[in-house]
Amino acid sequence: MASSNLQTRPIGALYTGGTFGMIPSERGYVPSLDLPGRAEAALADRTHPPIHWLDPETGPPITSSDITPAFWHQLATVIRRHAGDYAGFVVIHGTDTLAFTGSALSFLLADLDRPVVVTGARAPLGEPNSDATDNFLAGLHAAASEHNDEVGLVFGGQLLRANRASKRFGAPRAPFTSPHAAPLATFDETLLWHDEPPAPKVALPAVHRRDARVAMLPVYPGIMGATLRAVRDSGADALLLEAYPASVGPGADADFVQAIREITANGTVVAAVSQNQYGSVHLGRYASSTPLAEAGLIGGADMTREAALTKLHYLLCAEVAYDRITELFSSNLRGELTPT
Ligand code: ASP
Repeated sequence: MASSNLQTRPIGALYTGGTFGMIPSERGYVPSLDLPGRAEAALADRTHPPIHWLDPETGPPITSSDITPAFWHQLATVIRRHAGDYAGFVVIHGTDTLAFTGSALSFLLADLDRPVVVTGARAPLGEPNSDATDNFLAGLHAAASEHNDEVGLVFGGQLLRANRASKRFGAPRAPFTSPHAAPLATFDETLLWHDEPPAPKVALPAVHRRDARVAMLPVYPGIMGATLRAVRDSGADALLLEAYPASVGPGADADFVQAIREITANGTVVAAVSQNQYGSVHLGRYASSTPLAEAGLIGGADMTREAALTKLHYLLCAEVAYDRITELFSSNLRGELTPT
């Protein structure tokens, strides 16, 4: 379905940094401070909804390698505060952690009845072959659409469900993939919605803290139980393992299994997503993974690591009890996983 009825209420645009607005300096690319004016000038001859720039209240624009979980909460707070005044929101952000921020917002703003679109660029606005203007334009149209109240990620003419997107296995010219969910829409001057079912809207608890720490580490030949204990002892409130695509982890290593048992017995969640972007975690499919499940490891089905990490962070910040976290982590809250 093509959607061109742009609402008259403005789109709230938030510039947080990233390549999109960068300029060269003697020390390498740095975020510019005058991006809003330049971005609007670049759209002068394109049809777009009215734009109103909002201060994201996250400090000066940054490269997205400096994004922290506290930043996600601040962004969500600002968007929520302004929700009544805007048709939707576009967040300009670096691409390296864009899928983490988009996923985090999908949980933190699960009850919002407005579209939020995160986007960035491969090359800075104004440079030859920059995709910044096109991505911004597509983001504005997606944020203006009444068709949608999800958090989306716009890139290269596609609107992806943000908590299904990942930059991890992308190609240089198409950095984001969404291996388990088709694009919600495509954009070529107008937005063409696909017939994807909307994400569920489950009532989710509000957050009470912002400082939950989720540690993530891959499973690899030789990983030790001691490594898991050390990560837990570093102050992590939950551990997310990137597990082997089929057999999950070393279920025959008694100390590794024991480490999971000890950690979960103390109320620290240990969860797993697949190392394969097309994969899904199936605990118990191979007998070797059964001891891991028995020790308390929970599977994240086909979630991206970005969705899994931010979902754990959100659930911990909502102070959800351990048993309920293990249940909700494997449930489809906002379109982030395919229920089995
Ligand atoms: N350095 C950039 C960042 O902020 C990369 C990008 O935006 O594409 O993530």
